[in-house]
Amino acid sequence: MIYLHGVMKMKYQTMKTRSSPGYATLLGLALLIAAPWELAQTSRAAAKPEGATPVKIMTSFYPMHIATLNVTKEIPGVEVLNLAKPQTGCLHDYQMTTDDMTHLLGATVFVVNGAGMESFLDKVVAERPALKIVRASEGVELIRGREGDNPHIWVSVSLHIRQVENIAAQLATADAAHADLYRKNAADYVARLEQLRQKMRDGLKDIQTRDIITFHEAFPYFAREFNLNIVAVIEREPGSQPSARELARTIGIVKKAKVKVLFAEPQYPSKAADAIARDSGGKVYTLDPGVTGPVKADAYIEIMENNLAELRRALNRPPAE
Ligand SMILES: [Zn+2]
Repeated sequence: MIYLHGVMKMKYQTMKTRSSPGYATLLGLALLIAAPWELAQTSRAAAKPEGATPVKIMTSFYPMHIATLNVTKEIPGVEVLNLAKPQTGCLHDYQMTTDDMTHLLGATVFVVNGAGMESFLDKVVAERPALKIVRASEGVELIRGREGDNPHIWVSVSLHIRQVENIAAQLATADAAHADLYRKNAADYVARLEQLRQKMRDGLKDIQTRDIITFHEAFPYFAREFNLNIVAVIEREPGSQPSARELARTIGIVKKAKVKVLFAEPQYPSKAADAIARDSGGKVYTLDPGVTGPVKADAYIEIMENNLAELRRALNRPPAE
């Protein structure tokens, strides 16, 4: 594996909240203000039955949000909101904002990927011991990366099925009144994910080359599942702008590698991708790790179907010499 060490780390532009007045005071303030449950753009408010206490589920980021929308589908009195804004992407260096903490105050359950993706989780647990945490990656064996355990589990369809089952089982415990509905929804969604997995296995069986270069270390679980070989990772987070120096280094890596098929995230600026392709002799395609996208239940399946089509386009050609 070739790594471009540390040159392309994204700096998330989020408010820091760790300075004074400190979380405890902020929490107190938030309680006093009793801020309304907002984030309308990512909410799916369900009809509340008379007399029942609504269950407010907060998810940490996009793939957990989509999975939870499926597990809670059409359950009355259950509301699902997402903590990070839809364009945030991965949460590797995410800093909680005061708004985030306020929103969490209204939640009963917090659904997280775990495996180190939510670096702020310990803080949340310490500040809000009563909040029930649902850990989607519980029991999943992690792939060890250069910087520790790789948290991009949901990118493997098989492991995402496991996550959906984990979410449903833990929601059923946290909110026993709806236990059967969570389990039924999960079973329905898992059946669809199994179909998707079969379609992808079939579609990737006969590709002519299996060697790829990716831009972000999001794909080891995906590659293992579909028998692809990641020969280099140009380490960067989706959404960051490459500098001229970074571009030059990337071009250098591709020139040295025999593999000429590069997969950038959809968020990668197309001008930079074009420059890399032009100057390295490689060709840039899109592979979507599913960290941003439309807020709808079918989004994960659609993203993976698009990935399948793109992989077939890119890899149904003999390897470059
Ligand atoms: Zn990531």
